[in-house]
Amino acid sequence: MNLAYKSLLEIKELIDSGEISSREVWEYFKSRSEELNSDLGVFLSIGPKEFEEKNNTPLSWIPLWVKDIFCEKWITTSGASRMLENYIPPYDATLIKRLNEAGMNALGKCNMDEFAMWSSGENSAFLTTKNPHGTDRIPGWSSSGSASAVAAGLVPAALGTDTGWSIRQPASMCWVVGFKPSYGRNSRFGVIPMASSLDCPGTFTRDVKDAAYLYDIMNGEDKLESSSLSWKDSIDSKIWETKDLSWVKVWVPKEYFEQGLDVGVKEQIKSAIAKLKELGAEIIDISLPMTKYAVAAYYIICPAEVTTNLARLDGIRYGYNSELPNNNLEEIYLHNRGEGLGNEPKRRSILGSYVLSAWFYDAYFKKAAQIRTLIIEDFKKAFSEVDIIVGPTTPWVAWKIGEISEDPLKMYLEDAYTIPASLAGLPGISLPCWFTTSNDNEKESLPVGLQMLTNRLQEEKLFQIAHVLEQSLNLWDSLIPKNFQA
Ligand code: GLN
Repeated sequence: MNLAYKSLLEIKELIDSGEISSREVWEYFKSRSEELNSDLGVFLSIGPKEFEEKNNTPLSWIPLWVKDIFCEKWITTSGASRMLENYIPPYDATLIKRLNEAGMNALGKCNMDEFAMWSSGENSAFLTTKNPHGTDRIPGWSSSGSASAVAAGLVPAALGTDTGWSIRQPASMCWVVGFKPSYGRNSRFGVIPMASSLDCPGTFTRDVKDAAYLYDIMNGEDKLESSSLSWKDSIDSKIWETKDLSWVKVWVPKEYFEQGLDVGVKEQIKSAIAKLKELGAEIIDISLPMTKYAVAAYYIICPAEVTTNLARLDGIRYGYNSELPNNNLEEIYLHNRGEGLGNEPKRRSILGSYVLSAWFYDAYFKKAAQIRTLIIEDFKKAFSEVDIIVGPTTPWVAWKIGEISEDPLKMYLEDAYTIPASLAGLPGISLPCWFTTSNDNEKESLPVGLQMLTNRLQEEKLFQIAHVLEQSLNLWDSLIPKNFQA
């Protein structure tokens, strides 16, 4: 049976009705992943988990791919860094545990940008992942392997993390549904930290319903993680019956349509907004004035937290050990960290130490923290008037591998539309939204993603509205990349 582009819930139904066995499902996706990996560079390791015959769980061994930032007991977890190349965790991340208990198991670990930093999927210490919609193009970052895997039908779902946009942006470039809940909903326990006040685990799926189904399994209190919220959220299945949006007020911030936005992307997003209107939503044009400071604040707060989190990686108790002779402690640090870490983690560690230093703390870190509060206030004000904020997920479609990887500033500016929600801890989703010709090649059509944000803790409303739009766009058949048909 051709399973590649079926949704998670469709596969579950086939297993439940006995039309296919869970072993067949596992074997199908395992062999498809092995067969196509050389074209896409999706995973760092496959297995060693093998199918077991126990079907008393809701998701009876339906496989997924997991970003190599989630610790899984006795399975190498590297964060795509030389520093942790041979690190084998003795415990499971809470989300892995919850998914396993529900019956979903990982085929293995997916490629990513080193410790989730950077913006293209070209910054892994090991390999470059490609976009199934054009294999000379980036799949987006940093959960690059997870997005590419779902887009090419290697699994129905994958896990990623979003710190500044790393679920929403690759989902947009690979044309799958990327969802991050409010900060604190999904436990970060066992997820290698990048910036702890921003890191947010979430999913890549084929549709909105699958995202909600996995969210239901994963979210909720975790006593092992101090920022996790102390209650569980459950999505009411009645929301899927909603057909019109006449009860919805949509805000389209004008800041998301200013300079830097590709014309093709703009046109498609405007058409999707027109569709929302057709469905009955009221569109309101107002402004989000602090947005323009979000990127600057993020690139101070994030490196400050990176420098603290990466400080533990010195290769002494675990991690990369240089073969150079060491005469003192300083040389141990220099050699192990100098060889074990890539350029971007080094750049952020230096920048982070600088903004946290006694002399510059007030001018940089404190200022950025104040701006973060103003951004949160901006959103609070907005959500007292509207239900949802809509705009492009990213300003451009996927660019060619290598095209801007040497330009850190341009790369940093790429996340202008997604970072404000990360700073405010809001839930967000990127929905496939037609395609447009790429900036460099008029003939090549590439995916566009529409970002939707709701107020904190309003995941149910986000799923409800996104589902109505998704149904009316009805893009499923065109989402299949032409070189990766099943
Ligand atoms: N571009 C952002 C960064 O490099 C994305 C990070 C993320 O969401 N993991 O910080």
